Amino acid sequence: MAPFDLLLLGPPGAGKGTQGARLVQRLGLPKLATGDLLRDAVARGTALGQAARAVMEAGGLVSDDLILGIVREELDRPTAAAGAILDGVVRTLPQAEGLAKLLAERGRQLSHVVFLDVTDEEILGRIARRRTEESRADDAPEAVARRLKAYRDQTAPVLAWYETHGRVHRIPGLGTMDQISERIRQAIGR
Ligand code: ADP
Repeated sequence: MAPFDLLLLGPPGAGKGTQGARLVQRLGLPKLATGDLLRDAVARGTALGQAARAVMEAGGLVSDDLILGIVREELDRPTAAAGAILDGVVRTLPQAEGLAKLLAERGRQLSHVVFLDVTDEEILGRIARRRTEESRADDAPEAVARRLKAYRDQTAPVLAWYETHGRVHRIPGLGTMDQISERIRQAIGR
C-alpha cells in the first residue's frame, strides 16, 4: 500500500496534539510533531535544542532549515515508511515547499491535509486553561500573543497554498474531542 501521510494544520491551541494522538492510535502510524521533537531537544540540551530554545520561549518560529532537517531525519526512520501523522510541521511557505520536495524525493505525497478551524477567542481560552495544568514557557501571555501573530503572518498563507495545491479538509474545531475525531474520520474516510 502507498504510504499514508497526513498533515494537521491549525492555530496554536487548535487541538492538533490531541487529534494527532488519536489518529496515531487509530491508524497505527507514528507521529511527527516538530513542537514535541524541539521540546525534547531543549530538555536534553542538544545542539538543536540550544539553537531553538530562545526563539521557542519567545513564541517565535524556529528556522526553516532546522525544521526541514528534523523532518528529513524523521521521514527516513524505518518506522515512518508506511506514513506519518504530521503535526505542526508546516508553518511557513518554504516549509510547505520543502516538505513537498522531501516527500516527492521519497516517492510520497500528502494523502490528506486536515485544517482544524478554531477562533482566536477559543484559542486564548484554551491556552489560558492549559497554562494552569501544564507549564509550557511559551504559554505565557506575551509568548501566546507572538505565537498567534506568527500564525497569522506566516502560517495562514500556508493554508491558502494547500488549498490551491490540493484538497484541504476544513474541520470545525469546536465540540468535544470525540465529535472532532469523528469529523476527521468522515473527512478522510478511514
Ligand atoms: P503550538 O501548536 O501550540 O504552537 P507546538 O508544540 O506545535 O505548539 O510548537 C511549539 C513551538 O515550537 C512553536 O511555537 C515554535 O517556536 C516551534 N515550532 C514547532 N514547529 C515549528 C515549525 N514547523 N516551524 C517553526 N517553528 C516551529
